[in-house]
Amino acid sequence: MNSGESEVVRELRETLGDQAVRSSSEDIIKLMQDESWLSPVLQRELDRRNAKEGAKLGVQAVIRPSSEDDVRQMAAIAARHRVAMTPRGAGTSNFGLLAPEEGGLIIDFRGLTGEPEVKDGSVRAPAGTLQGKMERAARDKGQEMPVLTTTYSVATIGGWLCGGHAGLGSSVHGAVWDGLVEEVRVVTVEEKPRTLTFRGHEIDPLLHTFGTVGIVTETTMRADPLHEWLEVVGFFPKFAQASAFVQEISNDMRYRLRVATAQDEGLMPGLRQLSSIMQPGAGVLLIIDRDQFSDASKLAESHGGSLVEWQVWKPTSTGKPSVAQMVYGHRMLWVKRYLPEAAFCHIYYDADRPDETVRLLKERFGDELLFEMKFIRSPWMLRALGIKNGDSLPAALCVVRNGSEHGKVDEIHAFCDGAGIKYQNAHTNVIEENGLFSNVEPIVRLKSELDPYNLLSRGRLRSAVTRQ
Ligand SMILES: Cc1cc2nc3c(=O)[nH]c(=O)nc-3n(C[C@H](O)[C@H](O)[C@H](O)COP(=O)(O)OP(=O)(O)OC[C@H]3O[C@@H](n4cnc5c(N)ncnc54)[C@H](O)[C@@H]3O)c2cc1C
Repeated sequence: MNSGESEVVRELRETLGDQAVRSSSEDIIKLMQDESWLSPVLQRELDRRNAKEGAKLGVQAVIRPSSEDDVRQMAAIAARHRVAMTPRGAGTSNFGLLAPEEGGLIIDFRGLTGEPEVKDGSVRAPAGTLQGKMERAARDKGQEMPVLTTTYSVATIGGWLCGGHAGLGSSVHGAVWDGLVEEVRVVTVEEKPRTLTFRGHEIDPLLHTFGTVGIVTETTMRADPLHEWLEVVGFFPKFAQASAFVQEISNDMRYRLRVATAQDEGLMPGLRQLSSIMQPGAGVLLIIDRDQFSDASKLAESHGGSLVEWQVWKPTSTGKPSVAQMVYGHRMLWVKRYLPEAAFCHIYYDADRPDETVRLLKERFGDELLFEMKFIRSPWMLRALGIKNGDSLPAALCVVRNGSEHGKVDEIHAFCDGAGIKYQNAHTNVIEENGLFSNVEPIVRLKSELDPYNLLSRGRLRSAVTRQ
């Protein structure tokens, strides 16, 4: 017990016990860390706030509930005291989500875990369970999760649903809004909290909305029949050939893929993990059903390239670097090692003319930009971005070599606005600025039911309504 503690922290300690409530500066600062350094824009803003407000940003304590009952008691106390709460999983997200605008409490959900329950077609687990643990449990029963964040070995399922959106498998199965989540349980933030269950599209406003809408305590995810996945690296003389291969393999529904992504010639030297097989030119990173390797190789040859087997994918480390940790969010890590001043822009190409988008950007920015290209088969994202042509979204990670330069990321986004190029802004932690939510009304409505005092992740949803 600390005599300087606020009434709310004392009450939480009395109710949940000392082990569940940490209020030392060391504990608080440790739990506020995430991966936002990947955005120079967010990092600059955090540095500015830390200098002005101190590293704790007014946070009073970290709370670690270990049961849904703990969550209900905590929510009741927070609601009565009107104290802000920032949910936290493993802290792997990179959007500045663990830098609360109004201090309050950080809620560490990693204690809310348990053995995943696998049924035919689904896997259920508490929100603090690691996604990799759910995948292993599903695989033990001949099934798998259709989409995994590349951080699956450390990230929680609740954190992925509330903070992430796509990953390994998205080129076939889309993003979190596309039928991957069957059911979630949510505890409301009220003096008398309720526990509610949401199914199907009722869940949508809770997804990728930065923990603003409700406290997720349990998730039931869709499970599909298991595949044996092969990690493969492709080499092509030019990026245009690599991306033509990726476009064809991603849009041919006979192929079962976890990922197919084309890499610009200028990015390939950064893939030092693959130095033992590296070849000059552009590349492709591929995870494909093992039975389809031979067909995929023939397709690569028809585009002037060749494929090299790397290893069979496993949900636990094999000791050899995995292609699964070179794609989606993970490519930011190897690119930053190679180009420390880089920043990333998430751009969506015109499905009918993907090369045209690259041409426009290259014409304006030249070698300042390096490209990666993949496809996300997400009906939800296509609708959200107002894209009517095609049923798969060509997505690019655009690497901005000098992106740490003040104003550079804004300049790229402004050019995209002018040229009608769609993008998702990964340099903001405000839902309205993200680019995927042109209509926040359903999010605002559900939040006002589940969190009427606007205590969760305050500031991330600017349009939130606050009951006094
Ligand atoms: C190297 C790297 C690779 C990545 N790859 C991917 C990728 O492939 N796909 C992808 O989608 N993302 C990716 N990310 C982003 C992030 O890792 C994932 O989204 C991850 O699943 C987040 O889980 P977490 O447990 O770390 O959540 P955190 O980062 O702790 O939290 C994420 C958000 O969820 C909220 N939250 C957490 N738990 C709950 C809960 N129980 N109830 C309500 N809100 C909650 C938090 O408030 C926060 O807003 C990557 C990030 C990095 C650094």
